[in-house]
Amino acid sequence: MTTAMPICKALWDGFVVHWTGTVYPCSLLCAESCSNSLSLGNLAEIPLAAMYQGAALRTLRRRYLAGNLGGLCCAHCTKGDLCGSHLDEARAPGGAGDPDELYPVTRLEVSLTDKCNMLCIMCPKVGRRENPPGLGRAGYIDPALFAGALRDFRDLSKGRGLVCLHWVGEPTLHPALPAILRSIDACGLGIALVTNGIRFLPALTDLIVGMPHAALVSFSINASTEGTYRTVNNSKQFARVLGNIEYLLARRSAAKRTKELAVSVTFVVLSENLGEAVPFRDYWFGRYRHHGAEPSLVFNGKGAASASQVDFLVEAGAFPRAKENFLEVQARLGARG
Ligand code: SF4
Ligand code: SF4
Repeated sequence: MTTAMPICKALWDGFVVHWTGTVYPCSLLCAESCSNSLSLGNLAEIPLAAMYQGAALRTLRRRYLAGNLGGLCCAHCTKGDLCGSHLDEARAPGGAGDPDELYPVTRLEVSLTDKCNMLCIMCPKVGRRENPPGLGRAGYIDPALFAGALRDFRDLSKGRGLVCLHWVGEPTLHPALPAILRSIDACGLGIALVTNGIRFLPALTDLIVGMPHAALVSFSINASTEGTYRTVNNSKQFARVLGNIEYLLARRSAAKRTKELAVSVTFVVLSENLGEAVPFRDYWFGRYRHHGAEPSLVFNGKGAASASQVDFLVEAGAFPRAKENFLEVQARLGARG
């Protein structure tokens, strides 16, 4: 093992499915050649269970453990660090056991579509309308492909995994979303959904609040005023999105599901919205308390342009771990060279 980095567990603990059926170990977006080097194949040709046992994933794991990262996104990736997605020390290479059994499968991330009804300035889509290199044109996942992957994931995770609907695109645009949600719930798997909230309408809220395995709905907001929302997200739907979140919070309270069903709001720090980070935090802490729950507020500093912006947030007391996270990532980038 040649790297001082913690070991990213993404090559062991799950899969990311693009709507076309192409499967990756993680959702890192990168240059086309690198992204392709992480491809495990397409569900139309290889079932998920076979990919898990297959040569492509085994080869990637061995290359990763040997520090042989040339041509892989892993060579310059900090995603595993940002989301804490790395292996426990006890499971690190050099320990006992089969390197293919380092971590149990628990994660299935699915991009139901690449289409989106917003146009955020920090969107990873190239030019904000096109897909990142290697991901092809936009469209919707075939429900039959999804159903096959879901069955395999249920078996691989022994019925204890989490299915997260997100990635590049807005999941609520998929015409079969209610049926897809019901199929996940019927498998007993946890459900997480990341949305911009525009189409998170009462019927969808009622469905999700009534699902025993719905675990998380996360709204990408990135602003605390309509003007900044329009600047960052290129959308005039600020009031509508707030109304949709309020409805979900109220329904969740009424159904006494505040503990089981987490609701979070996210804020990617950018030069354009920096001044609204503190008002954002204050507003949402107040709203969540009103609904009898602790807030689950996610700070995502990946858009932060400089250390001074992070300092500002720390001094303002907005996000106590912002600086620590930022410095850790910088140090690890340096260590990796
Ligand atoms: S190190 Fe980064 S690119 Fe490699 S598997 Fe982990 S998250 Fe993906
Ligand atoms: S909501 Fe997500 S997918 Fe849609 S434009 Fe914004 S960042 Fe991109």
